[in-house]
Amino acid sequence: MTRTWPEDWDARKSGAGCSFCTNRRGTPFYAGAVSDAFLERHAIARGHAIVVFRGRHVADFTGLTAEEAAAYWSDVHAAARMVERVFAPCHMNYQLLGNLVPHLHVHVLPRYLDDPAPGKPLPWEPKTLDEPEFESQLRLLTIAARPKSPVGQP
Ligand SMILES: [Zn+2]
Repeated sequence: MTRTWPEDWDARKSGAGCSFCTNRRGTPFYAGAVSDAFLERHAIARGHAIVVFRGRHVADFTGLTAEEAAAYWSDVHAAARMVERVFAPCHMNYQLLGNLVPHLHVHVLPRYLDDPAPGKPLPWEPKTLDEPEFESQLRLLTIAARPKSPVGQP
């Protein structure tokens, strides 16, 4: 066998140098029971968000207890509904990968009728949002996260 994964993979999975543990990634638009949801600055779709497990380093979904897993998916569900309300996609995708940053997170990916890969996963070609666009999207998500507040209303 020729190893193809990085030599430090086991250390990274155990949390060594984990950027999600040490870097808050800015302000979450939603803080759930066990995770925080952030708008992605390097996005592959309008409204691309990630839901990051909070509290300790967990590399794989299987590292959660059954109770944590239920709470985590409930948080993903809540954050995804906010993304859906704001961006009105034609479909939603969810990717739980962790191949680059092995700290449990789900990518919430709105799909649009004019996106480049109908019927397939989106190609992983992130574009960095400029600051006004990022702030505009984040403001809408933050409003959507308020209890019973319609989008666009303060
Ligand atoms: Zn971590």
